[in-house]
Amino acid sequence: MSSIPHPKNHGRLSLGGRIATFLGVTVPIAGLAAAAAAAWGWGFLHWADVAMFLGMYALTVVGLTVGFHRLFVHRSFETYLPVKVVLTALGSMGVQGTMIHWVGLHRWHHRHSDAPEDVHSPHHQGRGVFGFLRGFWHAHIGWAFHADPPALDRYVRDLHKSPTLRATSALFPAWAVLGLAIPAAGGALLTGTWVGAGTGLLWGGLVRILAVHHVTWSINSVCHLWGRRPYATGDGSRDNLVMGFLAFGEGWHNSHHAFPTSARHGLRWWQPDLSYWVIRNLSLVGLAWNVKVPSRQAQAAKRRSN
Ligand SMILES: [Zn+2]
Ligand SMILES: [Zn+2]
Repeated sequence: MSSIPHPKNHGRLSLGGRIATFLGVTVPIAGLAAAAAAAWGWGFLHWADVAMFLGMYALTVVGLTVGFHRLFVHRSFETYLPVKVVLTALGSMGVQGTMIHWVGLHRWHHRHSDAPEDVHSPHHQGRGVFGFLRGFWHAHIGWAFHADPPALDRYVRDLHKSPTLRATSALFPAWAVLGLAIPAAGGALLTGTWVGAGTGLLWGGLVRILAVHHVTWSINSVCHLWGRRPYATGDGSRDNLVMGFLAFGEGWHNSHHAFPTSARHGLRWWQPDLSYWVIRNLSLVGLAWNVKVPSRQAQAAKRRSN
């Protein structure tokens, strides 16, 4: 790039918003410290904690990838309202704000991908090593301390039309708390102890939220910096194998920017895409339809390399 345009600053978040964001980012880190101390200091680590972490991680990531992202943002398939409600509840347990707000910001990201108006591009924070590091930080989490772009509501008119989805989205705080209560109850039931409830809460709740946060944010930071770019997309999006695994297929981010409405992000047979596997299985049992995938010709037309 010959010149780096200045990012469009959408203003500062309110003080309350910044405090809430700060707590949302740091409390899960404190949870990891407490979980590690309980495990290695006092030996409180049960197989139930691992089960709670993995089970809650899978459910939350599916809510975010299949629900928030592929269904609500991009309408890459259609499903029944109760399935939409369940996916909204599960994604909300990832503690990243309300579903409708998440959808608005992500639609804005696609509209302005890596342009100065993009809310979380890593590419407009200056030159050199410091510019790179600032860009990574901004794309990963720094952006969340800035105010929303203007008129974001215009990007989510379709979702506002559904009273059920509006209400389910607004119940975000309740879903977030439920995402802590479920692993606490699971830990208590599986171990039959109060300590099990506590460590279940830590591993299936806070540590799981920490993992989901950084995996999700890595799609904005890592997947706009490192990886292959098989498709001509006009932005800095990348296909990243590690994030392809951890984020259930969302790491094929260059492919996604090339075909945003595709329900399948890992378009090649060797690209793991657990979220698409979930959508395929939903469609096999009649719970999803109009599943969109680009034709081979459309894929070949945009491909830069093999
Ligand atoms: Zn992107
Ligand atoms: Zn997207």
